[in-house]
Amino acid sequence: MNLILLGAPGAGKGTQAKFIAEKYDIPHISTGDMLRSAVINETELGIKAKEYMDGGELVPDEVVVGIVKERLLEKDCEKGFILDGFPRTVVQANVLKEALAQAEKRVDVALNIEVSEEELVKRLTGRRSCKNCGKIYHVFFTPPKSKGLCDVCGKELYQRDDDTVETVKNRLKVYRDQTAPLIGYYRNKGTLKTVDGKKSVADVERSVILLLKDVE
Ligand SMILES: [Zn+2]
Repeated sequence: MNLILLGAPGAGKGTQAKFIAEKYDIPHISTGDMLRSAVINETELGIKAKEYMDGGELVPDEVVVGIVKERLLEKDCEKGFILDGFPRTVVQANVLKEALAQAEKRVDVALNIEVSEEELVKRLTGRRSCKNCGKIYHVFFTPPKSKGLCDVCGKELYQRDDDTVETVKNRLKVYRDQTAPLIGYYRNKGTLKTVDGKKSVADVERSVILLLKDVE
């Protein structure tokens, strides 16, 4: 089963991708992870990618496409895969379609995790990290015992630059402009399936299993 995941930042794509990968025994291919390791290793592509990521912008196609194509042709993808973070534009979706067609494959399911913008902002701006020990909290979901202070070491918590309202709204706008059109693209191809991502992780997992029941 060849799957791609659609959904805004904060919709829970990573969590569901891991679940699906384990449940159906297919590799979870996260372009985010692949890019981050390129950034950490300061490869040529990684340095380029970092400039875009720091500004909340999408990393350009030519940086991402090559990495993904190679990965999908590896042996462990023969029985299927779940792609998380790619394609992000209609142009990329067409490139993916061609690359898969060359290997006589196609996208079987585009799974769209739907969450309201209000909920996404709440999820994405609530993260706080400890300056001292690095422990991560969330002001709504996993708050510290005393406001603004780390439970472990008592030091001050701070908000990372990419979690501020301004950066989050910019990320969501980029999603709306560039990635949301993929929902129509895959609906037209008859491969779109949508799940309500506002529910608990366990409920979303149950819905996903039902949606994928009839897929080869
Ligand atoms: Zn701490």
